[in-house]
Amino acid sequence: MKISIIGSGYVGLVTGACLAKLGNKVVLIDLDEEKVKLINSGVDTINEKGLSELLRSTDIEASSDYQSITDSEVIFLCVGTHSEKGYSVNLQYLTNAAEQVSQILKDKGAYCVVGVKSTVPPGTTEELIIPILQSSGKKAGEDYGVCMLPEFLREGNAIYDFMHPDRVVIGEYDARAGDMCYSLFQGFDVPILRTDLRTAEMIKLASNAFLANKVSFINEIGNICKELGIDTHEVAQGIGLDQRIGSKFLQAGIGFGGSCLPKDLKMLIDKAREIGYEPKILEETWNLNEIQALKPVALLKKYVSINNATIGVLGLAFKPETDDIRSSRAINIIETLLKGGARVKAYDPMAMENFRKLFPSVEYVSGEEVLNSDVTLIITEWEEFKSLDYTGKVIIDGRGISKAKEARIYERV
Ligand code: NAD
Repeated sequence: MKISIIGSGYVGLVTGACLAKLGNKVVLIDLDEEKVKLINSGVDTINEKGLSELLRSTDIEASSDYQSITDSEVIFLCVGTHSEKGYSVNLQYLTNAAEQVSQILKDKGAYCVVGVKSTVPPGTTEELIIPILQSSGKKAGEDYGVCMLPEFLREGNAIYDFMHPDRVVIGEYDARAGDMCYSLFQGFDVPILRTDLRTAEMIKLASNAFLANKVSFINEIGNICKELGIDTHEVAQGIGLDQRIGSKFLQAGIGFGGSCLPKDLKMLIDKAREIGYEPKILEETWNLNEIQALKPVALLKKYVSINNATIGVLGLAFKPETDDIRSSRAINIIETLLKGGARVKAYDPMAMENFRKLFPSVEYVSGEEVLNSDVTLIITEWEEFKSLDYTGKVIIDGRGISKAKEARIYERV
């Protein structure tokens, strides 16, 4: 099939590369011309295992010109839906992209599908995107179809996740559009759930809200365990073996960051409030996560006074295997340390360049050198941190690197 992807960030680039691998002809559109150039020369603009090989070996091209999508059979909208600052939803990129697509629909003879893959509040595709597409003078469900296909990939494992999903969700306005999207994934041996647009939008938000809740839940259990002198990690292991609960997302620590969980949780809270419902569990999930973020700073004050200490930070990315620092827990922590007058040394295998743009005054050094600090905080659970030598050090561990227990003083958040 001829497929266009609007927005070539994490989701767009991975979706495009994987759909090309499945035998489709893919055109990626992005307003960022530098990104377009890099993609066309086979350079991956994000760190994802196997992505550059796919870009070089598949039928895929990038462009910043929407005229390149005129013969598309399916057009996926994969632009961001978050504000640059804060967590509030920003649908401006999506409405701009939909307006451009609407211009293309005006002159399009053949039926095609417009599929929203960006994460949006329930009702957005129907109430905001379809009216914009209708401004083409063409009729949804007749001249073109509309779908909403939420994306569940995990950064760092995105290609694998796209190719081996737990499920595919297709929200459809018209059955013909649903059939076309279904045909893209029918080779996958996984449940394919076909539903309506707003249910698909809600499934995405509810999935991430559930995962966020699981993290805050175990953090709360952890805070209680700490007071009682019980090892939370053994407790998590014990409850995770119950198949109704499962062991994933049960690592107590400094909570969740990243470009998705906080934003999607906030999106659902805001939507609930907008309709007059007070989402108490979701709000407490959020509040607990805020409190948990600065626990390492509170703990280190037991050992040093921030304003004349050198503090080491191991891990800057919001999670391992990515250079993505969006809403990383390290941001709040380092901000607080610098404001408090600390000298900060930091190391991350992938994310130092991104971090340097935000915090030029931090000293970016090797992992070994970070450990030559008065106190070191572990913020991201990178595999290589399991082989550092922690003997004689003071470590506050926000993620559970058991090798760090060999430290002179070891505190687990
Ligand atoms: P991103 O910011 O990495 O990428 C968005 C891209 O869209 C950018 O390259 C930007 O230049 C481009 N863009 C913006 N406006 C455009 C326009 N009008 N036309 C063409 N290109 C335009 O975002 P992302 O992380 O890929 O997320 C995209 C959406 O997918 C969001 O709604 C996000 O919540 C959702 N999502 C993200 C993930 C993830 O792991 N990152 C996972 C699931 C869902």
